[in-house]
Amino acid sequence: MMMNLKKVVLPSDSDFLGKTILVAGAAGFVPGHLSEFYLKKGARIIGIDNFITGSRSNSEYLQREYKNFKFYEMDLIYGLPDLRDEKIDYIFSLASPASPIDFAKIPIEIMRVNSEGTLRLLDLAREKGARFLEASTSEVYGDPEIHPQVEDYVGHVQINGPRSCYDESKRFAEAMTSSYRMKYTVDTRIVRIFNTYGPRMRANDGRVVPNFINQALRGEELTVYGDGSQTRSFCYVTDLVTAIHNVMFSEDHTPFNIGNSDEKTILETAELIIKILNSKSKITFKPLPKDDPVRRRPSLKKLQSISDYKPEVDFESGMIKTAEYFLNSKNNFKMDS
Ligand code: UDP
Repeated sequence: MMMNLKKVVLPSDSDFLGKTILVAGAAGFVPGHLSEFYLKKGARIIGIDNFITGSRSNSEYLQREYKNFKFYEMDLIYGLPDLRDEKIDYIFSLASPASPIDFAKIPIEIMRVNSEGTLRLLDLAREKGARFLEASTSEVYGDPEIHPQVEDYVGHVQINGPRSCYDESKRFAEAMTSSYRMKYTVDTRIVRIFNTYGPRMRANDGRVVPNFINQALRGEELTVYGDGSQTRSFCYVTDLVTAIHNVMFSEDHTPFNIGNSDEKTILETAELIIKILNSKSKITFKPLPKDDPVRRRPSLKKLQSISDYKPEVDFESGMIKTAEYFLNSKNNFKMDS
């Protein structure tokens, strides 16, 4: 229930001086932005990534720009760096591949990092007395039967389908996080991340926003799966980081949806991207992948009952910023004239 949750009191930037934060998956898209958010506040970050889906350019960028960023190339499934002499204040568990194209290629790695990897991080939190945040997902709701999705909804999840490796291992990670809190009083937080986009996503990530933007920039057809009537609600990455920050510094251990509730059909998303980027691309229809959720929109009431969170970057400006990133990045896609 969300009655009477305490309002979050956010720490000031100076509170982060001398604090050490471990970010698992630091070379990934969301964790890279999260790391930079805290580096800017003066925290020290220990980043870990095995680059299975994270980008070397992301970790190299953080290493170049911030002297407080220490990076280890490691696979959490097999171990952690030697952190014996480290004081760790906060741990963010964000080390999971999350694109449907990854689910087909590396399902075992996904299941293992969300179970064995998360377990390792929880043990570390217990040992260090660190606060721990598990980055869960809207996928725990599966193909939801209620709309918008509220945190109390227990989901409609396929156990043996193409998305199960991610959905079920994140459900497991949430359950284990709660078990560590109940059994060992580890100070835990859980967020459920909805569709997020922005600069520093992989161009070949396979998800809808990088696909559509790059197709539109190249003047290629935008590939809408199914009839495009399925919906998603897209959140710009800096807004998502603000939401994570609000939950981390709340006093509530139960899950929070985080994202943007601006829901659009995928066909509408394709049309808008073509219009915003002034592209000449057309739309083509491809088969709908199995178990593709029909509707998805977070209820943000719970998050907004504890914080002043409001997404600041609207769809159009977010898409423009993301397109600029792809245009300026190494791939340097040329607009068709
Ligand atoms: N999608 C699409 N064209 C693409 C990639 C994705 O129509 O090139 C659709 C996909 O079927 C889904 C939605 O866009 O309905 C969001 O897909 P994405 O892979 O970004 O993430 P999901 O929310 O499904 O995990």
